[in-house]
Amino acid sequence: MANASLVIGNWKMNGNAALTRSMTDALRSAQQPTDSVKVVVCPPFTLLGELTRHCYYDNIAVGAQNVNANENGAHTGEVSIEMLKELGVEYVIIGHSERRAMYGDSNDVVAAKTAAATAAGLQAVLCVGEDKQQRDDDKTWHVVEQQLQAACEQLSAEQATKLVVAYEPIWAIGTGETATPAQAEQIHAQIRAWLTERFAAVGEKIEILYGGSVKADNAAELFAQQHIDGGLIGGASLKEDQFVAIVQAAR
Ligand code: PEP
Repeated sequence: MANASLVIGNWKMNGNAALTRSMTDALRSAQQPTDSVKVVVCPPFTLLGELTRHCYYDNIAVGAQNVNANENGAHTGEVSIEMLKELGVEYVIIGHSERRAMYGDSNDVVAAKTAAATAAGLQAVLCVGEDKQQRDDDKTWHVVEQQLQAACEQLSAEQATKLVVAYEPIWAIGTGETATPAQAEQIHAQIRAWLTERFAAVGEKIEILYGGSVKADNAAELFAQQHIDGGLIGGASLKEDQFVAIVQAAR
């Protein structure tokens, strides 16, 4: 029995206007009236407006893959929280490992973005996770805890109601190598305990997603784990049949 309530697709730097239409059509035809699973699609910035127009009548939310923590001003090439909100964007991915590794999203930058997004009412999808070396060195929890600590340091309990945590082991992202359900569940249980300690009753309700090579054929087993509340899906969120099957596995 799946235990999931939220499935988010991260298109990364992929997709086009045609995909926004075919994906929403595919998701819409698979929707059920009693659906309890929320679906969020995060395309590149340039497709956000197009996607929100298609999603207007559907139970599909739109998310961005990044945001700048500043309100406005001299930040060439950046996009602000208010700009996202004006388009109807509800979610924003923060601290994805690709941004941490390639675009300077340090723990401090991630903390500032998480604080600003949650204060403004956006749902912040905070990504945490260890690399292969850190796992081999038995440092997984140490790394994840440090990332949580840094990102949540400035958050009030009220802001934490706008938080989603995505556990994404870096060695499993885009590699086809998935954490086993037991490996993922172990870290998710630790994240749940940490969030509950930090935010009390609010922490018990924060959704914790798993990400890392989730596909149609492994989603159900992952989503059946007690502390896995859904998935953050990369590659498979670009293929209509795969993404719809993953959403169905969450029901
Ligand atoms: C991701 O980039 O967040 C991700 C989980 O990618 P993939 O599903 O392709 O491993």
